[in-house]
Formats: sequence, C-alpha cells, structure tokens
Amino acid sequence: MPAPANLLPVHLRRTLRADGSLVEWMTVFCPAKARSVATDLCADCTRCHVVVLGRGETPKFVVCESASRGQREDPGVVASPHATPVWGAMSGTVLCVEADVSVERLNAMLIDASIDCAPVVDCDGTLLGVVTRSDLMRWQWRSGAPAVPARSVMQSARTVPAVTPVATVGALMASEGIDALPIVSSDGHPVVVGVITARDVMAWLAHPAGRLREGRLPGSDA
Ligand code: SF4
Repeated sequence: MPAPANLLPVHLRRTLRADGSLVEWMTVFCPAKARSVATDLCADCTRCHVVVLGRGETPKFVVCESASRGQREDPGVVASPHATPVWGAMSGTVLCVEADVSVERLNAMLIDASIDCAPVVDCDGTLLGVVTRSDLMRWQWRSGAPAVPARSVMQSARTVPAVTPVATVGALMASEGIDALPIVSSDGHPVVVGVITARDVMAWLAHPAGRLREGRLPGSDA
C-alpha cells in the first residue's frame, strides 16, 4: 500500500452542455509542474506508479513520486493553512455549465445537486463567470424568468490558482464577503478544476489534524 504522502486526490469537473449531456474531466495537482494537470498526463509520466479511477463515488487518486514534495515530513504534525494549498481542501467534484445552457436547465441542476453556485466555462473549461442561486432568484423575480442562456445572468468572478494557500483563500473570502471561489489550474492555465466554499474552508480548519484530503484515501491512517 503506498504511503499517504505519495497519494494525490483526483478532482472531477462535470460540465453540463446545452444539449443536456455531461462532459467529465479529471485532474490532479502536479507538484512537479506546480499546477493541475489532466490525469491522462500521469499515465505517461515516469514518476507515476498508478492511476486509480474507481467508478461512482469510490476514491480516485494517483500514486506519484513527486507527491510528497513540499508536504510536511511528519504526518502527525498538524498542517498549517499557510502551507497547505487550496487543492487539498476543495471538494472532489465541481459542476460547471457552458455559457449557452438555458437558465432553466441550470436552475434545475443547482437544485438537484444541492449546490449554491456553478462556474460558467467555455468548451475548454476556461472560466467565463459564475452563476449563484441569488442570480437565479433575481432572474426569476425581477425579470419574470425569461428563456435566456447562462451567460445572460452570470457574474464575473475572481479566480484562485490551485496552489494558493488555504489561509490566503480564507482571508480573501472573509474580507470580501465571498461564499465560493472557482479554483483554476494556475494563473497561466485558467481552466476550472474545482470550487472552494466557505464551508470547505471551515471544515478544513475544524478538522482535528488539519490534514490534506489524501488522508481519507486508501492507505491512510485516518
Ligand atoms: S505522475 Fe507525473 S504528471 Fe502526474 S502528478 Fe506526478 S509528476 Fe505530475
């Protein structure tokens, strides 16, 4: 069984298209490249031991020789939010929509998934904006719910690279009153790889050992 320090959690982006289909894209945060990369890249990488992509909700992870780079040596030491990248605190799946998805379909998606917002992306996953439930409420009550695409109601959104420390993200959300932020691969690759919510940050801070999510994967002592 690989050591937990060598495990990288896989993040899944599901994107709803206008025809109702869902496109999936899986990434891991690559310590060697300091950005999120598609898991396909790991399969061809000499540092990769195995890529495990279980079906459904089963754990998905990459065992990578570079994974322990930059992590604390002693797993018993509580992680610092100043030294922990946000990719270790965000949830494993993010739901996105393409800009031409109808607001009606988007509204149904948010309700079905019990989420409060969705990044709007182009066909390559690059962030265009964000739609929140509040935006949809205004669309319904002020405008009378006209048949418009998601791009008509989305707001511009700040992006945060996956390598940004949890503490920096938490401070930004607290100071600017932001409940959710899209996480992108890096400044140079602004494709969406996840969303961090205030609840995610609080859950990470409240976790007794303050561990990265790898600690919940097979091989961990969590
Ligand atoms: S296996 Fe290679 S590409 Fe994948 S995360 Fe590790 S170093 Fe990066």
